[in-house]
Amino acid sequence: MTETIVIIGAGQAGAQAVISLRAEGFSGPITLIGDEAYAPYQRPPLSKAYLMGTFERARLFLKPESFYADAGCTLIVNTAVTAVDRATKTVRLSDGRALSYSKLLIATGTRVRPIPCPGAGLSGIHSLRSIADVDGLQAVFRPGKKLVVIGGGFIGLEVAAVAAKHGLDVTVFEAMERVMARAVSTPISDFFAIAHRAAGVTLITSTGVDGFEGEGAVSGVRAGGKTYPADIVLVGIGVLPNVEIAAAAGLECKNGLVVDKYCATSDPAIFAAGDCTWHQGRGHGEDEGNWMRLESVQNAIDQAKHAAASMVGKPKPYNEVPWFWSDQYDLKLQIAGLAWPGDEIVVRGEPSARKFSVFHLRGGVLAAVEAVNMPADYLVGRKLIGEHAKVSAARLADTSIPIKNVVG
Ligand SMILES: Cc1cc2nc3c(=O)[nH]c(=O)nc-3n(C[C@H](O)[C@H](O)[C@H](O)COP(=O)(O)OP(=O)(O)OC[C@H]3O[C@@H](n4cnc5c(N)ncnc54)[C@H](O)[C@@H]3O)c2cc1C
Repeated sequence: MTETIVIIGAGQAGAQAVISLRAEGFSGPITLIGDEAYAPYQRPPLSKAYLMGTFERARLFLKPESFYADAGCTLIVNTAVTAVDRATKTVRLSDGRALSYSKLLIATGTRVRPIPCPGAGLSGIHSLRSIADVDGLQAVFRPGKKLVVIGGGFIGLEVAAVAAKHGLDVTVFEAMERVMARAVSTPISDFFAIAHRAAGVTLITSTGVDGFEGEGAVSGVRAGGKTYPADIVLVGIGVLPNVEIAAAAGLECKNGLVVDKYCATSDPAIFAAGDCTWHQGRGHGEDEGNWMRLESVQNAIDQAKHAAASMVGKPKPYNEVPWFWSDQYDLKLQIAGLAWPGDEIVVRGEPSARKFSVFHLRGGVLAAVEAVNMPADYLVGRKLIGEHAKVSAARLADTSIPIKNVVG
């Protein structure tokens, strides 16, 4: 009997799964179902060049629409999967239809974490995850407007950088002591804080927001006992995994849908990939096999490839080096590996030159690199991390030794 594959979530991982299933030789029907109005698109430009207005909308789409039909994939947009019935191997759609599957891939991603503050329902309070969100934000992005960004993570800071360049008056609130604290080391946080302040952004750390003021539309943000005027608010305080339909179907969920190294759930017919998964990461030393949820293009693409291989009976363990990037002003931050508290930190280069890298050593082995405008450091670092290479801290710090010769 012909196998049928259904994919829930027409995003980065869903699109990659279609590509990889065909590359792996799967020839049966594939149905890709998404609740957004669009074919799968890439999100990273949304808070960077696309918001800036320097990246055409057509370039957001991961594949031309004709690709899906040509690949024998039925793409259903504007339609949510509302339930998975594992006993009958069917999914129920928001338009009332039911579709059968032989194998199911759950690639539902995440949604924006709502801010639990009084006044959060006022107009003028935005978040940024989708094309529709950027359309709403761009319409009000005007020079001189007061923008308050809540959350000094990647998305909040990327929006702050674009807004500052557009001539908006930008204030960023970060509840933690430093920006991007969950994802980068202190030297990188400190460097980006200086860069934002130099660009005219008011950056207020260790300060959470207590509420919003305004009648109908937001006019102020209450924080630290004061009210800050605001025409526009951008909330970027993280995301929540979309696992409700998986949990309702009885699949184990923690901070994401639990999958093994083959992207398989506890149901042999159901796999998962991307931002929605809770999985064991690659690592070494103390972090070997740690459970995590990653929000990155790399993880979405690589897990989709592994899930596709598993679905066609060619499982390969997922053991990829995580990588990520962020663009703020003229600064390209590239990260590979996962930093860990207690790592030995080595700075290579001069932050004041706006070109430097931070390397993380664990027991002398390179575990992570964070490179600012240093693509060679990032690329070499990523390769060495993959090889679990031992690297001398002194040689890493010595910029007279070319990075490619650092393991000598
Ligand atoms: C503004 C922004 C900037 C980013 N920048 C970077 C970056 O610089 N570098 C980087 O590596 N990563 C970045 N990311 C993260 C990256 O985009 C995500 O990690 C990636 O999109 C995850 O892919 P995914 O397929 O798991 O989820 P998504 O791409 O989010 O796709 C999931 C899709 O499933 C849909 N869906 C959910 N539930 C259902 C349902 N029940 N039925 C049907 N459809 C459903 C969702 O609406 C969504 O369309 C950024 C994200 C955002 C929002």
